[in-house]
Amino acid sequence: MKIIAIGRNYAEHAKELNNPVPTAPVIFMKPETALLKDNKPFYHPEFSEDVHHEIELVLKISKEGKHISEKFASGYYEEIGLGIDFTARDIQSRHKEKGLPWELAKAFDGSAPISNFVPKLKFESVYELDLRLDINGETRQQGNTRDLLFSFERIIAFVSQYITLKKGDLIFTGTPAGVSKVKIGDRLEGYLQDEKMLDFYVK
Ligand code: ZN
Repeated sequence: MKIIAIGRNYAEHAKELNNPVPTAPVIFMKPETALLKDNKPFYHPEFSEDVHHEIELVLKISKEGKHISEKFASGYYEEIGLGIDFTARDIQSRHKEKGLPWELAKAFDGSAPISNFVPKLKFESVYELDLRLDINGETRQQGNTRDLLFSFERIIAFVSQYITLKKGDLIFTGTPAGVSKVKIGDRLEGYLQDEKMLDFYVK
């Protein structure tokens, strides 16, 4: 399986990092070794002084497809969950300056904690979903999928022009504003609507 992630999909987050609001989705990938499941602790890597949390809605692809049209894209995911796109911001900034790829900042071990997945039909609309991240009991990030720049269907259509999507692939759909540094000892709790989906520690 593969993990595809979308950068800058909420305007307020693009602005907080002084990035332009994109006109096409910004794509990057994480390997399977980035996954962290079952609320296992995240071990802070030693190579970064500035690992940021990014809470994101995650789509699980339910069948294989390529060149999927936007019109049919909603048929390619049945379940959604929450994930954290951990980002070594110091490394990413250095690489951005030099025009280098982001993998070292985005794809390291444990950089993709994910929750359990729930049927999207559980919700009235996937475009009215609150996502929230609390750290040590304090809300740090709060967003709603109504503010996405690129819809889930647009993302699936766009990505599948280049990369065949397979059953079980995950798509991280971008983070709302409020990203900041995590430190050892922090407790991260992620909520989808009012349901706690993530609850783990940084070690
Ligand atoms: Zn992200």
